[in-house]
Amino acid sequence: AAMVTGAHAATINVGTEATFAPFEFMDEQTKELTGFDMEIIEAVAKEMGDDVRIQNMGFDALIPSLQTGIIDVTVAAMTITPERQKRVDFTNPYYQSGLVIMVRKDDLRKYKDFNSLEGTRLCAQIGTTGAMMAKRVKNAKVTEFNSITEAFMELKAKGCEAVINDKPVVDYYLARRGDGTVTTVPQVFDAEHYGMAVKQGNKALVEKLNEGLKRIRDNGVYDKIYAKWFGA
Ligand code: GLN
Repeated sequence: AAMVTGAHAATINVGTEATFAPFEFMDEQTKELTGFDMEIIEAVAKEMGDDVRIQNMGFDALIPSLQTGIIDVTVAAMTITPERQKRVDFTNPYYQSGLVIMVRKDDLRKYKDFNSLEGTRLCAQIGTTGAMMAKRVKNAKVTEFNSITEAFMELKAKGCEAVINDKPVVDYYLARRGDGTVTTVPQVFDAEHYGMAVKQGNKALVEKLNEGLKRIRDNGVYDKIYAKWFGA
C-alpha cells in the first residue's frame, strides 16, 4: 500500500480519573473507558488527525503528571479555576457545570444550603472544587476520598452529613444508583466550566485542541455526543 504522506499523526497522551460518570468511567460490560469526555477528546483528536492514549490516575495526580510530562493533557471534568490557571494552561471551556450539596433525604429539612452545613462532617473527592468549597464551610470536618463513589458511600453509611460535588455527576448517580435515601438540596452553585489542561506554555497543543473543539462544534459532532450523555 502507498505510504500516506503529509503530517504524521501524533499520539496525544491523555490523563483522566475514571470514576466520574458520565464524564469518564469504566463501562462494566466492555471494561473500557467511556463517557462524555472520552468521546469528546476522541472526536477532537480524530478531527485533527491524531490518536489518543488514555491513562487513568488519581485526580490529584493529574496536574503533577502534566508538569513532569507523563501526560500531555487532562480530560477529566476539570473546572477552570484561577488557582489552577497559575499552574497549567486551559483550552476554551467545553462544558458548563456547577456544584451541588448531596444529603440523606431524612436530613433535607436540616441542611438546605451552604450556610446550614456549619459544623458538620463533609465528604468530597480529593483535590476537587467540591473539596475546596467544603473547606470553606465554618467548623466543618472535611474528609477527602480518592474517588467520588467512596464519598457517596460514606454519606449513605452516615459517615458524613453531606457531599459537595459536580451537579451532573450527582444527578447521574441519583438517576441510576440512587436508592431513594440520598438527594440534593435546592441550592445550586455558580456555573463552573470544564477545560482541558496542558503544561504551562504548551501553546501548540492548546491551539490544536481549541481548533478541534471548534470544528466538532461546527460540524455537529459535539451536539451528538452531548445529546447522547445528557439527553435533550
Ligand atoms: N470539576 C471538579 C474539579 O475540577 C471535579 C472534577 C473531578 O472530580 N473529576 O475539581
